[in-house]
Amino acid sequence: MAKKTSVDSVKVRMYRQGFGDCFLLSFYQGKTRVFTMLIDCGIKFNTKSDDVPIEDVIDDLKATLATKDNGKPRIDVLVATHEHWDHIAYFHPSRGGLKNPFGDFDIGHVWLAWTENPKDDEAVAINSRLRDGVAALSFAAERLNDKLADEVEQSASLHLGGQVATARKKFNEAIDDVMGFYGVTSLKKVSQSGIRYKKNGKVSSMTEDAMENVIKLGNDGGGIKYFSPGTTVDANLLPAGVNVYVLGPPRSSMINKSTPSHGNAQETYLGIDRLGMSSFIDGALAVGAAENSQDHVDHGSPFGEELGVTPQTAESQEFFQRTYFADDEAYRKIENNWLDITGQFALQLDGAINNTSLVLAIELADTGKVLLFPGDAQVGSWLSWHDYQWDVTGGSGCDQPKVRTATDLLNNTVLYKVSHHGSHNATVKEKGLELMKHPELVAMIPEKEDSYSGILYQPLMDRLNELCKGRVLVSADKNFPPDRLRAERPPELSSGEWKTFKDNLVVDRVYVEYTIRS
Ligand SMILES: [Zn+2]
Repeated sequence: MAKKTSVDSVKVRMYRQGFGDCFLLSFYQGKTRVFTMLIDCGIKFNTKSDDVPIEDVIDDLKATLATKDNGKPRIDVLVATHEHWDHIAYFHPSRGGLKNPFGDFDIGHVWLAWTENPKDDEAVAINSRLRDGVAALSFAAERLNDKLADEVEQSASLHLGGQVATARKKFNEAIDDVMGFYGVTSLKKVSQSGIRYKKNGKVSSMTEDAMENVIKLGNDGGGIKYFSPGTTVDANLLPAGVNVYVLGPPRSSMINKSTPSHGNAQETYLGIDRLGMSSFIDGALAVGAAENSQDHVDHGSPFGEELGVTPQTAESQEFFQRTYFADDEAYRKIENNWLDITGQFALQLDGAINNTSLVLAIELADTGKVLLFPGDAQVGSWLSWHDYQWDVTGGSGCDQPKVRTATDLLNNTVLYKVSHHGSHNATVKEKGLELMKHPELVAMIPEKEDSYSGILYQPLMDRLNELCKGRVLVSADKNFPPDRLRAERPPELSSGEWKTFKDNLVVDRVYVEYTIRS
C-alpha cells in the first residue's frame, strides 16, 4: 500500500508558444501542489508566435509558480533534455528581447543527461565531435549559399534550368532549417579557417550559450544532477509516491555488450562517425583550413603536391581557361560536388543530437501509471531502453514487481509526449508505440503547422489516434485545435471516457493542460 501522502495527480501543461517544447508538470497530493517540474522551453529558430508570445508563457509560469514565502516563483526541477534551440531557446541569457527569463525563478535542481556532464570523458569526446560536426555543417551551408548564385546563372540556359535552380534553393533552405536547431546565425565573422568561432575558440552555436546558462541557473539554485540510463532518480529528490526512471540517452559502451543482436546504440550519437560521415567532417574542416592558410595543409589528396595545380594557378592558364573555366564547360567542375551530401550529413547530425535527449519515465507509484517524456529521442535511443531493467525504489505497493522493464513502462504509459514533434523517425513501432496499450493513453505533441515538411507524419498520427482513441493534443497547429476534442466526441471514445477526458482537459490561449489521476 502506498503512503497516504502520495502524489495522486499530475497536471501537465503544454505551452503553445510555437514549434518547440515547453512543459510544466505540477504534482498534487489532493488539492496541494507539492512539486513542480519544467521540461524544456524553446522554439524553432527565427520564429515567434503572434498568438502566444513567449512573454505570455513566462508570465503564466510566474503567476502559476508564485510562492507565498519569498515571492519568487519556484521550479523544483528544471529539465533541459538536449541541446537544440526548439528545446532550450528561452534558457538563453539574452535572446528574443527577453533578458534571462528564468533568472527570476527560484530553481531547485537542474536535471541534465550524462552527455552534458563536463566531467564525463565519454560525454566530452562525443560533444567535441558533435561540435566539429556543427562547424563542418556551418561551413558547407555557407559554401552552398555561395554556390547558389553561380548555379542559378549556369542553369538558366539549360532545359529545365529553372527547376534545377528552384530545387537548389529549396535544398539550401532545408539545410538552413537544420542549422537553426543549433541556433547558428549566418556566418558573418569568419576566422582564418573559414569557420566562425567564438572568442574562446569554440564554435558559436547559441544553443551552447543557452545550455551554459542552464548550468548557471542550476548552480545558482540547488545544483545540477546528471543522469545515466538504467538508473532511477533518488527518492529524496522526489515527492512521495513518484518514481522516475532514466531511459536515455544510451551509453555508447552499450555497443560492447555481449549480446549485439539488440543492435541498441547503432544509430545513436556516434552514428555520425560510424556511418561514413566522419570524412565529411574532416574533409569540410580541412578544406576550410586549407583555403585560409598560407602554409600547405594536407587534406587527403591521393597525389603528391607536385602533380597538381591549385585552382588559383589554373585560372590564370589559357589551357584551363578554355577547357575548365569557360562558361560552356561548367558541367566539368567537380570541386564542390562534396557539398551534395550536406543534406544527408545534416540529418545524421540532427539525429545524433536528438539521441542525446534525457528520456524520463515518471511513474505514479499507487497505480503504476507512467508519463513518458522522451525529448526528441530517435530510433537508437528507443531500442536501447530495452537493454535495461530498473529496480523500483520505494513508494510502490507491496504486491507490485520489484523491477521494471521498458516494456512495463511503455505498457503503463498514460501520457506520451510525442518525441520530436511527431516526425517519421522518432517514435519506434514494435518496441515503442505498439507497447503503449493503456486504455487511458493520451498523446501530447508540441508542434506548429507549416514548420517542417513531413511533420506531423500522417501514419504516426493515424496510429496515435487509434491507440489514444482520438485523445491527441497538439499545442499550436491550427489544423488540430484541441478545442475540437471538446466540441465533438471522437468516435472511438465512449461517452463516459469522453466526459472524463474533458473533465481533465483545460484549453487556454497560452496552454493546453491535461490532468493525470492516479
Ligand atoms: Zn525538437
